[in-house]
Amino acid sequence: MLFREAVQTFNRMSETRKRLELVDLLSEMFSRAGTDLRALVYITQGKLGPDYLGIELGVADELIMAALSRISGTDMEHIQSEYAKYGDLGAVSKNLMGSKSQGSLFNEDISVSGLHEKLLSISKISGQGSVENRIRAIMGLLINSDPDEALYIIRIISGRLRLGVSDATILSGLVRAFGFEDRSEEIEEAFNFHPDMGEIATLLQKGHVESVVRMGPTPMIPAKVMLAERLPEISDIIEKMDGSAAFEYKYDGMRTQIHLYKGEIRIFSRGSEETTRNFPDIIAAFKKTFRCESCILDGEAVPYNAETGELFPFQMASLRRGRIHEIDRVSKDVPLAVFLFDILYLDGRPVHGLPYSERRRILEGIFSENESFRLAKRLVTSSEKEASEFFEQAISDGCEGLVAKKVSPDSVYRAGARGWLWIKFKRDYQSEFNDSLDLVVIGAFYGHGRRSGKYGALLMGVYNSEDDTYESVCKLGTGFTDDILAAMPSMFSERIEKKKPVRVISEMEPDVWIYPSVVMEVIAAEITLSPIHRCAYGILKENAGLALRFPRFTGRFRSDKKPEDATSTREIIEIYKNQKKKS
Ligand code: ATP
Repeated sequence: MLFREAVQTFNRMSETRKRLELVDLLSEMFSRAGTDLRALVYITQGKLGPDYLGIELGVADELIMAALSRISGTDMEHIQSEYAKYGDLGAVSKNLMGSKSQGSLFNEDISVSGLHEKLLSISKISGQGSVENRIRAIMGLLINSDPDEALYIIRIISGRLRLGVSDATILSGLVRAFGFEDRSEEIEEAFNFHPDMGEIATLLQKGHVESVVRMGPTPMIPAKVMLAERLPEISDIIEKMDGSAAFEYKYDGMRTQIHLYKGEIRIFSRGSEETTRNFPDIIAAFKKTFRCESCILDGEAVPYNAETGELFPFQMASLRRGRIHEIDRVSKDVPLAVFLFDILYLDGRPVHGLPYSERRRILEGIFSENESFRLAKRLVTSSEKEASEFFEQAISDGCEGLVAKKVSPDSVYRAGARGWLWIKFKRDYQSEFNDSLDLVVIGAFYGHGRRSGKYGALLMGVYNSEDDTYESVCKLGTGFTDDILAAMPSMFSERIEKKKPVRVISEMEPDVWIYPSVVMEVIAAEITLSPIHRCAYGILKENAGLALRFPRFTGRFRSDKKPEDATSTREIIEIYKNQKKKS
């Protein structure tokens, strides 16, 4: 398939808000892709391969501008001012290529796979002369492209394709293209265990649906983590769990998935990023602790005070992120303990389909607890009183609350899914309702007075997974420290959009729109009906949506969450209903 054909679909995708139309467009494009399908799927995701391979493209703006300047014979100042005007290097290159190609008769068509290969080779350029080599490689791509192709090529190269489609929508497009809609749930589950969209696409294209649905957890391939629902009362939790549950401490650290295969250990984060290098101490301890050949374990890594044994709050855990050169020092000063709570795979056998109690028994059997590896503390009970006491104990032991787990035979491990098999219970003393929310930044308002020259407030949204859109839910202006206020303009500068992003639903107009990508933790006094905000608009009441009252930023950026992992419209409706029940 020619990249030009894909571009036609991308253009049409950017004009529609309706998820069903998106799925149709994707399905039609995928069904025509032939041998270019794998490359096309990655490119549509805005990637060059599955996340866990860590292939980074994201070429710096300066390099792209240098390539544009050279190829179009335009000076850098002009390009910089165009960039400031459009806020999108793709649009700048489209304009420049438009004027260039009028005189060019030598455009060579590039296939989707051809483009993918070239992009991969750009991502591998390193070492001496790499700046010049990257500029030349980008020029080589642009010279053969028409204006529309240039727009998308530059957006892909800069890591900002921004088609705004979630993996779930892409998967629906694939399932429809190859006629497996009746198996879509199983296929989605397989993707959550084996998140390589290109691989799944090629198998479906060949009709090998059975191979797809058999994909369970695989060592060295990060599975999406299982997630919990939330309920505000322990009594509701026990009822929902059919009268009895396993209550586990809810540790406040970093979700950690540990894989062992053929003597090698790899660690992945909640977002399937490989973080092995950040945990040399855990790797060393793992080798001495576990009695198995291969496994996939799920747990929470929590820093603790080496002298007193007390658990530290989450902020200390972030010391392990991104500071590779300091890791050795940090691991001595702030040791980590991994509290294990699940197992997905053991010695060549997937165990995710066994009931929770069975998995816990297997987990208990493969190691003896030590400083570095411990079991999540738990209590199996049907008594509300016992569970409440256990909750108080969890809080005084430095935890955030409890996660209740269903103990019935159907309590399997569900990758990437939020369901009633796990229910979290927290108490947030600063907030009227029990839990914080994770909201996506969709816009910003200029500040006044002490905040002039910076942003004074943000427009925040929730994720509507049915429509694949972001719906406004509040204006957030509280909880920002001076440091955060000062950092926000540069944090958002690359995400500013001149127009409302197509998948954002908001009547409130901020001063600048921001492409949904940054997730922030927010608490609020309550959820109210609102004529302004578009979250759940018209669902509970005609001409009204839901909004947060007195929202406040907790100071925690959820860089481990993608925008699709933010609090969903459905969850907000649920919290609103629970709140009404209590009042
Ligand atoms: P979520 O993961 O539900 O999207 P979140 O990342 O904001 O939400 P919380 O709402 O605080 O986190 O709760 C879920 C998280 O709690 C899990 O992702 C996991 O990292 C952590 N956790 C701590 N202890 C446990 C436990 N015993 N069982 C399951 N998860 C636990």
